[in-house]
Amino acid sequence: MRVNVSSHDLKVSDHAHHFHPFTDHGALGVDERRVISRADGVWLWDTDGNRIMDGMAGLWCVNVGHGRNEIVEAVRAQMSELAYYNTFFKTSHPPVIELSEKIAEIAPDHMNMVVYGSSGSDANDTVFRMVRTYWDVMGKPEKKVIISRKNAYHGSTVAGASLGGMGGMHGQGGLPVPGIHHIDQPYWFGEGMKTGMSEEEFGIWAARELDRAIEEMGEDKIAAFIAEPIQGAGGVIVPPASYWPEVKKILEARDILFVSDEVICGFGRTGEWFGADYYGTKPDFMPIAKGLTSGYLPLGGVIISDRVKEVFHRSEAGEFYHGYTYSGHPAACAAALANLEIMKRENLVGRVKNDIGPFMQKLWAELGEHDLVGEARMVGLVGALELVPQKSDLSRRFDNVGRVGTIARDHSFKNGLVMRAVRDSLIISPPLVMSEEEASEMAATAKKTLDDTWKTLKADGLV
Ligand code: PMP
Repeated sequence: MRVNVSSHDLKVSDHAHHFHPFTDHGALGVDERRVISRADGVWLWDTDGNRIMDGMAGLWCVNVGHGRNEIVEAVRAQMSELAYYNTFFKTSHPPVIELSEKIAEIAPDHMNMVVYGSSGSDANDTVFRMVRTYWDVMGKPEKKVIISRKNAYHGSTVAGASLGGMGGMHGQGGLPVPGIHHIDQPYWFGEGMKTGMSEEEFGIWAARELDRAIEEMGEDKIAAFIAEPIQGAGGVIVPPASYWPEVKKILEARDILFVSDEVICGFGRTGEWFGADYYGTKPDFMPIAKGLTSGYLPLGGVIISDRVKEVFHRSEAGEFYHGYTYSGHPAACAAALANLEIMKRENLVGRVKNDIGPFMQKLWAELGEHDLVGEARMVGLVGALELVPQKSDLSRRFDNVGRVGTIARDHSFKNGLVMRAVRDSLIISPPLVMSEEEASEMAATAKKTLDDTWKTLKADGLV
């Protein structure tokens, strides 16, 4: 790697040669970008010498925090032993075998097998093909439709973006592919409040959208329902308490598969191993990625239920023509094993449930008192602040959705805390290892960010 390159020169080169994910390239000025060069624990350093708190755990993934040498060593050891081999053609290798066993141990009792890829997106491509193939093997090939939700995020590949419910993404490249139906989301603050229903009623109404869709299209046409336990990229949408119990009832009564997308909620984020544990649902498929390796190396996969496994093991199933060169990559599996070892040894799931989670939730709820905040919500260590122009009238929203969120996000960066803006809300999803002191500093910086945003909005006549 080059050394002694100035921060500005790095940015010029990045601007010239690096096409970024989810970026308006025409609008991104050369020096507007930030080049992150080092990280430790919950802290990041950029090439301009700033020290910044990582309130997003990278991209909702660095659950065990940055700079864990134990993972580095495990990967180094694995790479010198066997850096790569495939898992096709009757072949396996020790790290993928050990990891699969470990995942089966922490997964719900009825889920004991893992199919691998390298990301959450390709995990959902696998899901897309597997649910339809499941019904083919079952002799019900007409069961093809996958029901998803508006404003869901399931990845950026063709199947992932199609399963997702992001209008902007559907507008690019002619998506969604056929056979996917999006129902309304259980977004109380954004969509429920204005209906006149109570939060509980709205949760039940949103759940029954699933039943209405099944009824309308016919149960014999529906393959599966896919949902994030808590929508992450859609804005940390925590459903009303009535939502998942009602969905569960519907799923029990209907002959369709259930996919719980655990890419964000998995591996301790909610204070349970999986979001399905937190809400007590019973999935057939759980796409996983992110916290599986804490982002140290790319690894994703799908945990499948025993009933799905049984169907794919039938003689009439034959070969499932699917797999990736890097399915179960040895070095990535070694990273995941070391990561899970840390999570268990440091009891990070219990810590989020009983210690740092409740500690941070209390601080977060206090931010909800701020004049700019219409709702503060947090489960485990994933939360959102909904920004509003007038706290005394929660039916009001800012014009030009996204402008105020971006102003707040930029203030947060300037104040030394990475938060993400979704519409006009601020999102946080910090490493699960953060200390109480760091949590307090994070909340104090978020408070300063709200104050600074309020001042900017006042000066611009927006509040
Ligand atoms: N599903 C969910 C719920 C996600 O949040 C994400 C990524 N944010 C994905 C799938 C896609 O994962 P990846 O970016 O690793 O492809």
